[in-house]
Amino acid sequence: MRYFPWQQPVADTMQAVARQDQLTHAWLMHGSRGTGRFQFALALTQFILCETPAVSGACGGCQSCQWFAAGTHPDSLVVCPESAGKAIRVDQIRALTETLSLTPHGRRGRRVVIISPAEALNRQAANSLLKSLEEPPAQTYFFLITAQRSALPATIRSRCQLLKLPAASAGQARAWLEQGNSGTDVSLALEIADFAPLAAAQLLDDNAVVIYQQLLKDLVAAVSQPVSPHHIAEQWLKHEAYMPINWLLRWLSVLIKLKQADRGSESLAFMDKEIKALLQRLTLEKLFHFYDEVLEANRLWSAPLNRRLQLESLFSKWQALFP
Ligand SMILES: [Zn+2]
Repeated sequence: MRYFPWQQPVADTMQAVARQDQLTHAWLMHGSRGTGRFQFALALTQFILCETPAVSGACGGCQSCQWFAAGTHPDSLVVCPESAGKAIRVDQIRALTETLSLTPHGRRGRRVVIISPAEALNRQAANSLLKSLEEPPAQTYFFLITAQRSALPATIRSRCQLLKLPAASAGQARAWLEQGNSGTDVSLALEIADFAPLAAAQLLDDNAVVIYQQLLKDLVAAVSQPVSPHHIAEQWLKHEAYMPINWLLRWLSVLIKLKQADRGSESLAFMDKEIKALLQRLTLEKLFHFYDEVLEANRLWSAPLNRRLQLESLFSKWQALFP
């Protein structure tokens, strides 16, 4: 298990502290989604549990490292929601507490618990975890991963030391992504993912960039050809899993940026001409106004409303901006 290049300085510091056996027992690892936070926690876990760690990292050959490589290390405990978007429940924390009451398996007698994302802990689960954080079992380390520190109870936060996990710079993100996707233009994926490298990689894997491009084409077509809002809404809802309303917001913010800077975009070269023509027909004020409307619709997106009607209404408003 390796760190990502942008994490290496923080990893070096943490490993040095761990080698001196001075690692605090509870850490709140804070960083943006899609930047490899979980992998950082795993790589550090492997290092902490490794029987013969080198300065540069885990040895990769000891029994602990072998367990780790097989994904079966009994002292590396991960607590996640059972499915994405769900809460971490109290019975999951109770099961964890029970495991922690047993003797560790590895020779080092250490254990690491990763909780991800920590903001998914429901109130009861957080209370239950608090007891373990207050009186941690010997040689047990807790890594709580979060993108939203403020969403965690203050009692949990106060018992953890904060570790800020760095995001990749634009250059690091691009270099890493290009390495894994040679021959592919990664610019658009990076732009959509706000330069979060793993999020961008996921977009490429899902072929979502193509969908995203199509959404922009539809948006342009909606105001240059006779298309009904109903038809576009139907098209977009085919990609409901990708939360088209979020993507509409993203596209609008890209358009606003371009309008403000009065420039073209390298990653949008595939329809540079159309976008320039579109922006000429719009004022910034109109764009911002529409953005607010979409923001409001986005807020209501998870409410039990008719999504097709919601999108239809937005596309009507979008068309109305171009008399
Ligand atoms: Zn090892």
